[in-house]
Amino acid sequence: MSLLDRFLKYVKVDTMSCDKNSTETPSTEKQYDLANILKDELIALGLKDVEINEYCTVYATLPANKEGYDKIGFLAHMDTIPEVSGTNVCPNVVVFDGNPIRLGNTDKYLKIEDFSSLKKQVGHTIITTDGTTVLGCDDKGGIAIIMQMLEDIVTKNLPHGEIHVAFTPDEEIGTGVLKFDISKFPVDYAYTVDGGDYCEFSYETFNAAQATVKIKGFEIHPGFAKGKMINASLLAMEFNSLLNPNERPEYTSGYDGFNHLTEMNGSIGEATLHYIIRNHDLSLLEKQKEEFYNAASFLNKKYPNSTTVEIKDQYKNMRVLIEKDMRCVDKALKAYKDASIDVYCTATRGGTDGSQLTFMGINTPNLGTGGYNEHGVFEYADLNEMTKMLEVTTLIATTK
Ligand SMILES: [Zn+2]
Repeated sequence: MSLLDRFLKYVKVDTMSCDKNSTETPSTEKQYDLANILKDELIALGLKDVEINEYCTVYATLPANKEGYDKIGFLAHMDTIPEVSGTNVCPNVVVFDGNPIRLGNTDKYLKIEDFSSLKKQVGHTIITTDGTTVLGCDDKGGIAIIMQMLEDIVTKNLPHGEIHVAFTPDEEIGTGVLKFDISKFPVDYAYTVDGGDYCEFSYETFNAAQATVKIKGFEIHPGFAKGKMINASLLAMEFNSLLNPNERPEYTSGYDGFNHLTEMNGSIGEATLHYIIRNHDLSLLEKQKEEFYNAASFLNKKYPNSTTVEIKDQYKNMRVLIEKDMRCVDKALKAYKDASIDVYCTATRGGTDGSQLTFMGINTPNLGTGGYNEHGVFEYADLNEMTKMLEVTTLIATTK
């Protein structure tokens, strides 16, 4: 099968996860549809220990045919996001001539003016949506690249060490990898193949925490409120005004951290604010947490016992652990170089399954897929870039 045929086959399988069912893994039964296809293909390719476990994770091993290689893992996730439809994906393959590409019968166009990534892709084969769904290159692009790499290694009988692959559910709702069984994945290090621009390599993520701010007011008839009423909703607004206004997602990029108000609700008697707190630098994250505690103590001085802050850590920047064993980084950067790609390292402004795996004991940086505009109907894949990433992953797997 070609990389393109493989990709088109996988994106047509509906694997939307569901964030309202996040206590069960998988969150949707239909993720097994793709898991079963992959299991059959892995068995047909001759991989060993192929299984789908009770959490819908697909594991498989390609035993070494030569000695002296590191044991390397590759991972990609099967689900697509809950928020935008991934049902009845109708991919459209075009050679991009620089003119706007109409998405199906909609009035939506994929064009350079809106998406500057397209500038460097004139002449490339682009796969778009029909304007009504995601494409699901996030992360079936990664799955297609890994599966094609395995087929190439097996059919061309390339020399390689022990290779482990895993396809996980529910990455988009952050729960799939929590059930990951590392005993079935005995590798020296691994890579997630899940992301955008093929030139981007990332072994850094945010450090992440979430804050819940609860505010109690004093409710009384407004006609008799003078000197007595404490309006919890107004206190909530005051609380937010005490945080640094520049530290918001809409004002930050690169290595800037942020505090992001994700939800608020309030009445006169009580109000609740939910934030996520992010920074690549752990000491700066701690400073941002201090801002929350300081804002609460300020309000509590003005309005005694009004405000409580609860902060929970979510995940950490994998860089601190990867720096202790850089084999995964060195190996990847050499492969990009051998594939003549001008690679650059970026700090992911989010978390990855790899960051969680790294803290479970497997250093797992991320490789790009050549997929763009994830999580919306403008998502597209660049087949030329996917093909380059197939070359990179194959070099990683077959170079000592
Ligand atoms: Zn993804």
